[in-house]
Amino acid sequence: MELKLYRKKSPWILHYNAGSCNGCDIEILACLSPKYDVERFGMINTGNPKQSDILLITGPVTKRSRERLVEIYSQMPEPKVVICCGSCASTGGVFRDMYNIEGGVDQVIPVDVYVPGCACRPEQIIDGVVAALEILEKKTKAIEKPLRYANEVKDENDQINRRTMPGTIPTK
Ligand code: SF4
Repeated sequence: MELKLYRKKSPWILHYNAGSCNGCDIEILACLSPKYDVERFGMINTGNPKQSDILLITGPVTKRSRERLVEIYSQMPEPKVVICCGSCASTGGVFRDMYNIEGGVDQVIPVDVYVPGCACRPEQIIDGVVAALEILEKKTKAIEKPLRYANEVKDENDQINRRTMPGTIPTK
């Protein structure tokens, strides 16, 4: 319960440059500047995928960065959300069909949120993160629900009666 609350109130974000021109990365840094100051919402830019909730990716996926991107993604614990920042990350953008480009991020790993623009503006990035938080909450619930209700049995009125759950001691 507490973990779910902290995840939404203080998401840890991992930023990965998969081959961007740095334009979108500078906009992400602007989000951390005093003007936008996203840390006031509890967001932290972390460097460890094992502690991250949100993966923020800029640039198209180059052939060299593909393997690292998959490795980082697989190290992040569930639930996790992936955001593509900018048109390059979303579709390959101006680098699409070049000899060293795999394409957009969704050619390699699943993507939850697409932030448009070249470069995407800080306001759009913040909007994307807010959308990602809602998805993160839904994914958290989807993971927790089977655990919580695995042993619960509904009665004839479609109500969960915890007194008849398997493993509980009947009260007299
Ligand atoms: S979307 Fe534009 S600014 Fe962002 S990485 Fe691509 S070319 Fe650079």
